[in-house]
Amino acid sequence: MQFQIDLLLLALAPVFLLCIAAELGYWRRHGRPEIYDWRDSLCNAGLALLHQGADKLAWLLVLPLYGWIWREHRLFAFSDSWLSFLLLFLGQDFLYYWFHRASHRVRWLWAAHSVHHSSTRMNLSTAFRQSLMYPVAGMWVFWLPLAWLGFPPEQVVGVVLVNLAFQFFVHTQAFPKLGWLEYVLNTPSIHRSHHARNPRYIDHNYAGVLCVWDRLFGSYVEEIDAEPCDYGTVKPVNSFNPLWVSVVEWRDMLAEAWRAANWRDRLTLLFGPPEAAEQVASRLP
Ligand SMILES: [Zn+2]
Ligand SMILES: [Zn+2]
Repeated sequence: MQFQIDLLLLALAPVFLLCIAAELGYWRRHGRPEIYDWRDSLCNAGLALLHQGADKLAWLLVLPLYGWIWREHRLFAFSDSWLSFLLLFLGQDFLYYWFHRASHRVRWLWAAHSVHHSSTRMNLSTAFRQSLMYPVAGMWVFWLPLAWLGFPPEQVVGVVLVNLAFQFFVHTQAFPKLGWLEYVLNTPSIHRSHHARNPRYIDHNYAGVLCVWDRLFGSYVEEIDAEPCDYGTVKPVNSFNPLWVSVVEWRDMLAEAWRAANWRDRLTLLFGPPEAAEQVASRLP
């Protein structure tokens, strides 16, 4: 079970690549070939491979901890029923929402997550844009409560991958709003606004699969025609080198924290909201 689910993204790779080819053809036929840039898409593919390697290594290292918490400290013993799978899916999607929200509001996590946002384009290949630094940032900590609740570690790995696989399909400008689904799921329209840096859209729509969390916790914003999405990060990266893109924000963050005059500034630079860190950084000698 674990071996197969581990390979989910790899198994889906042909589907992902076919969808990218179809979207590329669609934009060529509709006179907007600039939505794809081969340098950007190659960088995205490089980032996906680096992320896959780092992710596999991280699971190897943290699975024993998940196993120990699950065996020794679990609160409930879930059976392999559809109800328990549903609870696991809901629990992980809820935790994903908070992981993603924290990834935008805590610079330590943003240093990893900003990689996903640093392209100025939005197409299906943008979904490949992941950070190899997530394990260092501590993404794996966010799923620990699932093992503690009583979900077997291999099922936790599986549901994390299913969530990520779903999100591939929301990285596109080819679909308009999807009617009533906009109230339930993370859709292309909802996720387009998430990738936009316009003041109206920035730091909203943190959904993984279900968008109900954004509506419940006040972070939902609607994409409107009057304000087209301007994709990318406020602080541009201007590079197509996957390794450089992966580490540049870490380099900036650690260098600024090193130069900070006091611990209050240092803590803001490391763990404050990115815009507060930016302000402190602008005062550094
Ligand atoms: Zn994000
Ligand atoms: Zn995204």
